[in-house]
Amino acid sequence: MARLLEGKPISEIILRQLSQEVSQFKKKPVLASIMIGQNSAAESYVKSQSKMAQQLGVDYQLQRLPAAITEGELLNFIHRLNIDDTTDGIILQMPLPAHLDPQKAIAHISFEKDIEGMHPINLGRLFLGQSKIVPCTAQAVMELLKATQINLYGKDTVIVGHSDIVGKPLAMLLLRELVTVTICHIGTFDAGKLKDYISKAEILIVAVGRPELIKGEWIKEGAIVIDVGINRVEGKIVGDVEFDSAQKRASFISPVPGGVGPLTVTMLMRNLIEAIKARQR
Ligand code: NAD
Repeated sequence: MARLLEGKPISEIILRQLSQEVSQFKKKPVLASIMIGQNSAAESYVKSQSKMAQQLGVDYQLQRLPAAITEGELLNFIHRLNIDDTTDGIILQMPLPAHLDPQKAIAHISFEKDIEGMHPINLGRLFLGQSKIVPCTAQAVMELLKATQINLYGKDTVIVGHSDIVGKPLAMLLLRELVTVTICHIGTFDAGKLKDYISKAEILIVAVGRPELIKGEWIKEGAIVIDVGINRVEGKIVGDVEFDSAQKRASFISPVPGGVGPLTVTMLMRNLIEAIKARQR
């Protein structure tokens, strides 16, 4: 039976370290969170972000903007936060209303204040192995892998999902550890090869958003399984991996909820602290 990789205990340790760093800053860190219009998923992120910010002594400033805001108005708003010395970090809650281009808006955030690590400069630095501001979910997965205390060097690793926010940055972080990385996606599935790749994976990380897409019987005996997926099914949250059957084959498995999720916001706070330290240098 697999051992559970839970995010909360790891998050608590990291938060204690971060609290100490925050207590040494001359002023309270300020995080500006831009929310455009209404979105229930984003509302729940905002709630958990503001709760953790409060716990850490970070001033979480929620900026609600109307859904009908024009691109020019949004870019102006971001610009004002960029040049405001009191603002240390900026996050833009997704999804944006359809008339706004998320990539353009993100690229407008100062890369020094982009604590989600999604600015092209921060992603470029990640590609070059130089960045400390890395997308939060990818960092959260790396923390769970670290908690296994297994040497990752040369391990056959399959990531299912190639999004800009999870799969691609995660591949870059794994390459830093000289892991052998394969990325699967919808093309792999449509070619009928997903099961084959998964059955060879010593480490399996799934970020798709399809409830229980990955069957337990596909998983290699003793594999480490990290499930990033969050799916709402009949009022319950489930992952992308069929948990009960996967748990019987894996050596470690992250539950949903309770695995990657609790660490993601912690990584956002860590990025904020890193961004402040980098600007002070
Ligand atoms: P996305 O929608 O941007 O990308 C989905 C990926 O899955 C793509 O690479 C796509 O090709 C692939 N895919 C789709 N159907 C597939 C199939 N049948 N077989 C194989 N691959 C398939 O996704 P995302 O934004 O990276 O999010 C993925 C999941 O992770 C979602 O459930 C999301 O809610 C969750 N998520 C969780 C956290 C967290 O903090 N725990 C953070 C971000 C995303």
